[in-house]
Amino acid sequence: MGQQRIGSERAVVQTADVFALSQIQERIINCVCCARLVAHRQHTADQKVRRFRSESYWGKPVPSFGDPLARLLIVGLAPAAHGANRTGRAFTGDRSGDWLYEALHRFGFANQPDSFHRQDGLTLHDCYIMQVIRCAPPGNRPDRQEIANCQSYFLDELRLLKNVQAVIPLGRLAFDAYLRAYQQIGNTLTKPRPRFEHGTLTRLPTGHAFLPSYHPSQQNTQTGRLTRVMFHQVFATARTLLDGNCGEGLESTNRSHGCSTAPQRGARSRSQGSRDKPLGR
Ligand code: SF4
Repeated sequence: MGQQRIGSERAVVQTADVFALSQIQERIINCVCCARLVAHRQHTADQKVRRFRSESYWGKPVPSFGDPLARLLIVGLAPAAHGANRTGRAFTGDRSGDWLYEALHRFGFANQPDSFHRQDGLTLHDCYIMQVIRCAPPGNRPDRQEIANCQSYFLDELRLLKNVQAVIPLGRLAFDAYLRAYQQIGNTLTKPRPRFEHGTLTRLPTGHAFLPSYHPSQQNTQTGRLTRVMFHQVFATARTLLDGNCGEGLESTNRSHGCSTAPQRGARSRSQGSRDKPLGR
């Protein structure tokens, strides 16, 4: 079986794993498991909005995007009705994507700061973006059953992303979904369980750096709950960890859960943090 070794500090990834990841994307794109979401994504694609009236909407589940060998994993919630549900690529064509890709580019995880459509030349380096559910939900709120339906894709991908060393969940729902999946693939969380606070860094028992962020939704960015400085700080921390001793250090650092590192300068402290609202965009 073929293997790819990317630097001494990165895990060996089977070529078969990369192929399996691509196969999962095919399954996702063709999924019709959630009747409500299938109807909504198609209705949205048919009706459109005035500013995108001339465009042809994707109107299908949105696959994951990025580098299968990535060390940084971003977890989003769901496609936006007129963003990724229109363009067919995660966080592409909406304001949340403007924030996310600008930050990824700034810290060396993307080749450009903008994302307009699937053929705009955007590539990710050492970064992979997954979403908790892959179809745009009405009101940006998926229900429990829909999240459960999409969980199998999430778990399958996590098992194949063997190089991941740092995880940034965007928003409370992504935070909870990742920790749930983390246990479902065979890991154990010790107490106290991580709390959702923007800008904190926690080492999970497996050594993964866990860096929750508020979601860059307009509801957060326009109200000042999430500022550029706050958002950048999360990615700066990830960059520092991955560029430093994080790679091999993850194998040897204190694995006890709760080995939290204080937020770096500019990040929100625990006392400053307010709880993120569960929201989609
Ligand atoms: S949300 Fe997930 S499980 Fe439900 S229809 Fe879309 S891809 Fe399938």
